[in-house]
Amino acid sequence: PGAQLPFDPEKKTLVVLGSGWGTTSLLKTLDTTDYNVVVISPKNYFLFTPLLPSVAVGTLNPRSILQPTRYITRHKTRQVSVIEAEATDVDPINKTVTFTDNSEIKGTVSSTTISYDYLVYGVGAEVQTFNIPGVKEHACFMKELSDAEKMQRAFMDCVETAAFPGQDTKEVERLLHTVVVGGGPTGVELSGEIHDFLEDDLKSWYPELAGKVKITLVEALPSVLPMFSKQLIDYTESTFKESKIDILTKTMVKEVKEKSVVLQMPDKSIQEVPCGMVVWAAGNKGRKLTQDLMAKLPQDQTNRRDYMVMKGTNGSIFAIGDCTATSYAPTAQVASQQGAYLARILHQMAKKDNLISRAQQLESMKAQAPAAAAASAEGEVVDTKKKIDEEIQDINRQLGKIKLRPFQYSHQGSLAYIGSDKAIADLPFMNGNFASGGVATFLFWRSAYLSTLFSLRNRTLVATDWMKVKLFGRDVSRE
Ligand code: FAD
Ligand code: NAD
Repeated sequence: PGAQLPFDPEKKTLVVLGSGWGTTSLLKTLDTTDYNVVVISPKNYFLFTPLLPSVAVGTLNPRSILQPTRYITRHKTRQVSVIEAEATDVDPINKTVTFTDNSEIKGTVSSTTISYDYLVYGVGAEVQTFNIPGVKEHACFMKELSDAEKMQRAFMDCVETAAFPGQDTKEVERLLHTVVVGGGPTGVELSGEIHDFLEDDLKSWYPELAGKVKITLVEALPSVLPMFSKQLIDYTESTFKESKIDILTKTMVKEVKEKSVVLQMPDKSIQEVPCGMVVWAAGNKGRKLTQDLMAKLPQDQTNRRDYMVMKGTNGSIFAIGDCTATSYAPTAQVASQQGAYLARILHQMAKKDNLISRAQQLESMKAQAPAAAAASAEGEVVDTKKKIDEEIQDINRQLGKIKLRPFQYSHQGSLAYIGSDKAIADLPFMNGNFASGGVATFLFWRSAYLSTLFSLRNRTLVATDWMKVKLFGRDVSRE
């Protein structure tokens, strides 16, 4: 009863968990005629994370960087089931997935279990708080769309509260102080975006307050952006200095309070710094579902997973992207290449399975065929066994040609926006590296991301938002 999956008993069932970078890229490349394909994700869309910090300050409209998963699946040759639900359990022995509808509106059924032949596990990661007190309660994150929207509301609330008549000077300073925790690319890009918002818009909308806005970026390591080359780290640090963004390196956030952050300074002294808003961009960790799954599998899941197969699953679970540790960085670039690679592997596997079952069919036909060549009605001599043997040989030849090649990552370079219409790029160039930073790199950054956006629809929306901001400024209204 109810909505049925487009199920073909002749085909194997491929269940895909997640609608992020890895799995969306997989879906784009996947030949859906090979399998019964079921996609399960609590979000019925793909989020273009590189532009999330732009949403947090209102440069981009939230919807411009989303792509409904059905936008991709509806163009596939064979129908794909898309289910908005959260996987709550994976049973690698019985090869089943249990999932639950966690949305506000529920029907009579909101949890069920289905079987899979192959599972693509691409659930991503969640924010790492290191159990630091107050982070969950008082800080904003920068991981999901709702985080960016929450940050935008909180930031504008700080500004409007600071503008309240008669506000105490010290309180105004506190409210307008934003602390960004984590000097990885997320923290750096977000600090740059907040600075742009201040320069381009707040200065004219709130002239009496703009001079008091302060941004502090806190990083526990000796420098920000450890994945970039030294000259680009220096360039970022000097750009931030000009932009009056304070960088505190070798400084660790120990606690987040309602109106302050507690910092451990490089000399190990503790300082409590008043602030209006804290954004937590201090990295990610595996989800509980992933930890539970790992506990059911052999511990030595090697870092090198050449074919994406998880050990101890008999080749039935493939993991891609941020969800499990591999030898590659947890980036969109890696996840999307893994997704496209896995789609090709799954196609080859389906081809192989089809050839093997045809060969088995032929073997049984051969066993039943007459022992000697027989003459047909037209007097032509037909040797069925010989014909079958020839077809089996042909199948074996085709099977011999199917070679599953291991995954090879091709690094296209690292790019980050640092504010003030400047970006930095470390690009692979003739066995070396080409580092560049500045306004030209910013234009490159924009065009690179525009072309990476999955659809013409999203490209148009993002380009229009950029134009609107240039013409009218960012929207400072608070929903
Ligand atoms: P995700 O894209 O996170 O997707 C995981 C999916 O799984 C989501 O659809 C989620 O809803 C779903 N899911 C979660 N739980 C469940 C469950 N229980 N059951 C089923 N589905 C579930 N990388 C770059 O290379 N370049 C960049 O410029 C860049 N910028 C970034 C900016 C920001 C602000 C952030 C946060 C990240 C950025 N990244 C960037 C990193 C990049 O986003 C990740 O590496 C990438 O998203 C990983 O892809 P994934 O498919 O593994 O996971
Ligand atoms: P990250 O893990 O790269 O950086 C987090 C930083 O927070 C680390 O440098 C860590 O030292 C610091 N930190 C942790 N705890 C702290 C504490 N208590 N006090 C102070 N500092 C603390 O996280 P991210 O920036 O969110 O990036 C996650 C992944 O996404 C990375 O692989 C990154 O490359 C990728 N990403 C790429 C881009 C880009 O290419 N433009 C943009 C965003 C994210």
